Amino acid sequence: MGFAQAKGDNKMKRNIETPKDKQNRHKAMEAVAMLDKIRHDFIQPPKNMDYFYDLYEKVYCKRESLHAKSVKVGTMCIQVPYEIIYALDAVPIRLCNGFYTDDEIGSDLAPSKACPLVKATVGQFSSNNFSDKPDFVISPTTCDQKSKSGAIIEDMGYLVYDMEFPRTKESEESREYWRRSVRKFTKELSKNLGKKLKKSKLKKTIQRIGYAQYLYHQLNDLRKEPNPPILGKDIFLVTNAFFFDKIDNWIEATQKLYEECKIRVKNEDKTHKNSPRIVYTGSPPIFPNLKIPLLIEQSDGIIVADETCSANRLFNDMVSIDEWFLYDMVDAVADRYLKGCTCPIFTKNNDRIRRVIDLVKEYKAEGVVYQAFAGCQVYEMEQRSVIEAMEKEGIPILYLESDYSPSHLGQLTTRIEAFIESLKNRRRRR
Ligand code: SF4
Repeated sequence: MGFAQAKGDNKMKRNIETPKDKQNRHKAMEAVAMLDKIRHDFIQPPKNMDYFYDLYEKVYCKRESLHAKSVKVGTMCIQVPYEIIYALDAVPIRLCNGFYTDDEIGSDLAPSKACPLVKATVGQFSSNNFSDKPDFVISPTTCDQKSKSGAIIEDMGYLVYDMEFPRTKESEESREYWRRSVRKFTKELSKNLGKKLKKSKLKKTIQRIGYAQYLYHQLNDLRKEPNPPILGKDIFLVTNAFFFDKIDNWIEATQKLYEECKIRVKNEDKTHKNSPRIVYTGSPPIFPNLKIPLLIEQSDGIIVADETCSANRLFNDMVSIDEWFLYDMVDAVADRYLKGCTCPIFTKNNDRIRRVIDLVKEYKAEGVVYQAFAGCQVYEMEQRSVIEAMEKEGIPILYLESDYSPSHLGQLTTRIEAFIESLKNRRRRR
C-alpha cells in the first residue's frame, strides 16, 4: 500500500508544473509559432536556411545549450566588442531578448511603459531561463533603460560590469573616452577570466570576425538583385544567430547559404521579383519578435536591406589596423564600434539618416518602414527627423509603433498592407 502510494505521489510530482516550467513552455510555444510561420508560410526558402531553422529549434524550443563548456559573457547591447571576448577564450552571448513571456515577467520589475526589449531582458534574468546562462554580464551605458536594467540585474545577484559609452560620436574627446573604456573593459575582463590577452589571439579573432562580416556583406549584396534570392525574415534569423551561435558553425552555414543564393540569382529563381522593395529601420527585431518583418513579407513586400542593431549594423565597419601591436589592435577594435554605431542614443545622429538614404539608393528600395517599440524613447524621439529627411528625398516612409504583445496584429496588418499597396500604385504611375 505504502509502495503503491509512493508511486502515485511520484507520478503526481512528475505532472506538477512549476512556474519556471510554465514560463519555459510558453517560451517554447512562442518560438515554435514563429518558426512555423517563417518556415512554412513562404515559398521556397533557400535549402541552407535549414541550418538556422534547426538551430533556433534547438536553442529556443528544446532549450539545448551550445556552450556548456565555455565561459559565457553576456552582452546587453551591440556595443560590447566580441573580438576581445573571443580573444580571452570566452564566448559572447547577446542578451537582447524578443520573448513576450519574458517581457511580461519583466513588467513586474521595470515600469510597464518601459521598452519591451529591456523588460524581456530583465524578465529572463529574473526567471533564470537561459539555455546558455551568462557567467558575466557587460552592460554598456548606451540608452538609459539599458543602463538602469544592468543595475536591476546586478541586484538579482549577477555579476554585471558597466561599460561606459559616450553620448556624442564626432568629437576627439568621445573617441578617446571610448578607447579608454574599451581598454579598461579588456583589463577587467582579462582579470576576471584569469586570462592574459595575447597579440596572436586578438589578431586571429579580429580576422575571424572580419571574415564573418565579409561573408555577410557578400550575401547582402545579392539582395540588390532585381529578384533577391532570400527574404528579410530569413536574413534576420541569420544575423540574430550571430548573437549566440558558435562562430565557426555560423561562418560555415552562412558560406553555404551564400553559395546557394548565388546559384538562385543565376537561375533567376522566381518568388519575389515584383514585390515592393523595403528598407527596414528602427528598434531591433529580435527572435521571436519578428512580427513586423513577417507582416511586411506576408503583405507582398520584400525587405531588401535594414538599418538595425540586430542585423546590418552588427556587420558594419571592419576593424582597420595600421600596426598589429596589442594595444593598437585594442584601440582599433574600439574605433570600429564607435564609428559603426548609428544608434539614436547619440545627441545628433545624421549618420543613421545618411545610411538609410544610401541603403534605399543602393538596394533600389521603394519605401522605408520605421518601427519603434513603444517605450523605446530614443527611436521614438528620432522618428520625426528621419521622416522629414525621407520626405525631403521623396522616399515614402511608414512609421509604426509596436510592442511584443500578440494583439494589435490586425491594425498593424492593415497599415502595412495599405503602405505596400501605395508603393505598388506609385510604381504603376511611373
Ligand atoms: S538600440 Fe541602441 S542601445 Fe539598444 S541594443 Fe541597439 S545599439 Fe544598443
